[in-house]
Amino acid sequence: MTGTAAAEPTVTTFTSTVDRIDSTAVVLTETYFYAEGGGQPADRGTLGGVEVVDVQHRDGDIVHELAEPPSFEPGESVEGVVDAAFRTYCMRAHTASHVLYGAGRRVLADLGYGGFDISATVPDDAGDDDFGPAVSGKVRVDFETTTEIDDSTLAELERLTNRAVWESYDVTWEQIPREEALGREDIAFNTKTEEGIQGETVRVVTIEDWDVAACGGTHVGNTREIGPVTVLGRSNPGEGLTRVEFAVGPRAIRQRATEHEQSRRAARALDTNVAELPDAVAALQSERDDLRDTVATLRERLVDARIADLRDDAVEADGRRWLVGTVAGLDANGLADRAEGAVGDAVDVAALVDDDGQYLGVATTGDVDAGEVVDRVTAEFGGGGGGRPTVAQGGGLDADGDDVVAFIRDTTAGGD
Ligand SMILES: [Zn+2]
Repeated sequence: MTGTAAAEPTVTTFTSTVDRIDSTAVVLTETYFYAEGGGQPADRGTLGGVEVVDVQHRDGDIVHELAEPPSFEPGESVEGVVDAAFRTYCMRAHTASHVLYGAGRRVLADLGYGGFDISATVPDDAGDDDFGPAVSGKVRVDFETTTEIDDSTLAELERLTNRAVWESYDVTWEQIPREEALGREDIAFNTKTEEGIQGETVRVVTIEDWDVAACGGTHVGNTREIGPVTVLGRSNPGEGLTRVEFAVGPRAIRQRATEHEQSRRAARALDTNVAELPDAVAALQSERDDLRDTVATLRERLVDARIADLRDDAVEADGRRWLVGTVAGLDANGLADRAEGAVGDAVDVAALVDDDGQYLGVATTGDVDAGEVVDRVTAEFGGGGGGRPTVAQGGGLDADGDDVVAFIRDTTAGGD
């Protein structure tokens, strides 16, 4: 037997005859429960007062999996109650995916249908809405397209989708012969799974003036029943596929309100309005880049001035002049570079240590081995280093910069 949920999605209470029972698995002669399929989760509800935990297609039957073995028996009449809130959510979310796909038809190139899913993203834990967890879920549609869905395209998809909701298009469904359906270019198929196109007839869901798709799910009768649709984000699940996630209902409303509040707060912090926010951020970034350049230039000048001072204080040892001291704001590479630049001009060895005593850079004219100087320092203060005989560097020292300088002056530089 076939289910009637998709044909009559607003029926949520019904009486049917029990056909077969296998422990907790029940088959009815007719059911309005929707069995999981086509990206839509199974309905919830009760059968003869027992909780229905799952509904699946199995060998041509629709099997209701109950929470416990029922007391009713085959041949008996039972009442089925489908969880109406959950069903309504699924109808709205599902129809919204068709509307979103229809929006995609208008803005995306070489469009193909890549998939749809409500079920996988419905959280199991309790939701934060009065409507329960399902209403907090996300819905996704996978677009097969060569168009890159950037922020403005995503916004356009959202705008068109909500516009189609507002336009109140009728949604209808019918069975049409398979060959006729496959011959129609306007019908969206999930060609990967060939879902819904194996039978003699194909179920076609039409949104007036907007979209036509082969689909076996439950849908609302008019797009206005969907309510607000909010795009949550996009990702790329595979080659040539773009996944767009969205929400309907309370989650859609909350998401929008939250984002508006955050935008307004950010705008206020920048002393502007939301419309001007992108320009204000761009101006701020440009200003930050300029300041960063200025800081770098000033820092260079400070280092230049500091090295000039150290040059004046250079010490004489074994007939060689040693420039030794701390320099702020440079790492091991920076210190080594500046040390290299400092030797040669009446300086035979330059050993620069950062203020925090973490890094060391040493350069020489060649008579003194720079690597040996670094080795002696790291042997005393920890860390490690390496380099060439004329330039070497050390890092990971655990000391005060001044202590390292004193050590170099007292020992390596000849004890002056
Ligand atoms: Zn559908």
